[in-house]
Amino acid sequence: MDFTIPAELRDLVERTRRFRLAELAPLEPEFLQAGRLDDARRRELQEKARARGLWGVDVAKEYGGLGHGHLGLCLAIEELYQSPLRLEFGGSPEPCLFLADDHQRERFLQPVLDGAKQSCFAFSEPETGSDFGHLRTVIADDGDTVRVTGRKMFIGLADVADFVILFATTDPDAGARGVTCLLVETDTPGFEIVRPMPTMGDDWLPFELEFRDCVVPKEHVLGGWNKGFGVAAHQLTHGRLKIAAIALGIAQRALDEAVAWAKERKTWGKPIATRQGVQWLLADSLVELESARLLVHRAAWLADNGDGVQHEAFMAKLAATEMAYRVTDRCLQVLGGRGYLLESPVQSLYRQARLWRIGHGTSEIHRWMIARTMLGLGANDD
Ligand SMILES: Cc1cc2nc3c(=O)[nH]c(=O)nc-3n(C[C@H](O)[C@H](O)[C@H](O)COP(=O)(O)OP(=O)(O)OC[C@H]3O[C@@H](n4cnc5c(N)ncnc54)[C@H](O)[C@@H]3O)c2cc1C
Repeated sequence: MDFTIPAELRDLVERTRRFRLAELAPLEPEFLQAGRLDDARRRELQEKARARGLWGVDVAKEYGGLGHGHLGLCLAIEELYQSPLRLEFGGSPEPCLFLADDHQRERFLQPVLDGAKQSCFAFSEPETGSDFGHLRTVIADDGDTVRVTGRKMFIGLADVADFVILFATTDPDAGARGVTCLLVETDTPGFEIVRPMPTMGDDWLPFELEFRDCVVPKEHVLGGWNKGFGVAAHQLTHGRLKIAAIALGIAQRALDEAVAWAKERKTWGKPIATRQGVQWLLADSLVELESARLLVHRAAWLADNGDGVQHEAFMAKLAATEMAYRVTDRCLQVLGGRGYLLESPVQSLYRQARLWRIGHGTSEIHRWMIARTMLGLGANDD
């Protein structure tokens, strides 16, 4: 077994690190106080990253990307998300967009690869989040066009998106078999952003959306009529790996902050790093971080070197996000009152870590899916 990270991926991580320290680190104090990084600034930073060759990191070379695959993306994200600014590299479309046919490739995929268009991903609804077969947004077949009616909730990036990757049902009684994925441009009549939904995550600002008889060309159905469940599974599996890598970055930075503070801060004349109570918090955190890292890297490696990593991606996301929550909590404790101040990156990382036990599928649903695979149970055994 060879755990060596290939030289070109080590180089990618090093370039990402230099970018983070040069461009993101100076902005941290302002970001932590304001809790916001506006979209113009975010795009500007993405362009700076692009100028350093950090664009389309995971995207295959045939699409103009760097071709570093899942492992490359995970390693780069792990490094990038050590900054609380939560910047993403540009030119990496939502994975399901690679299922596009020729027409969709030209209209939707290519502009995202180029940075000319932005998408958002809309699955969750007022009545359903975890329950895939319970969508109430309906797609009606009108021949060459379809009509969409319904509401979506919690949709990130909707305010800047040029199109929505929408999951809806062709038949509310058909469960997962009725799910269909449709690309809906945000200038379509009947589409409306109903309200922003401010969160405890500062500039994590999702939106509630309404689709009122939106007429969309049928050729904008992605992946086939009633085939949306497979499209979503593809999307979510890859998304899970990415979030698992984000969780590693969050935990690593929190731990680095806590270690530095433990060496500096003295009580009763000695650094708190010499106290067993503090050492155990740090030691447990490191062991959990390294354990999750192995799971995440293995899942990413398998995604690049085989197929069918759904089970591994569930385990990686569950382990890494639960770990990040525990680790950021412990690290905040090591920092004492300072960890609770807005000026501390650890408080921001702690709140981010909290989201990822919910977003992109809750930990409970992950456990359920892992157990189902482990026990050989199917959907009808629930
Ligand atoms: C900041 C933020 C951004 C988001 N961005 C997006 C986005 O861009 N696009 C999008 O589509 N969605 C987005 N979401 C929604 C997110 O994916 C959902 O919140 C998440 O999937 C959980 O769904 P829910 O909130 O409806 O919870 P529910 O499904 O209602 O679950 C509530 C609780 O019940 C538990 N539960 C439910 N069913 C079971 C079961 N069978 N067994 C055990 N426990 C169960 C859950 O684990 C949870 O603890 C976002 C959410 C947030 C907070």
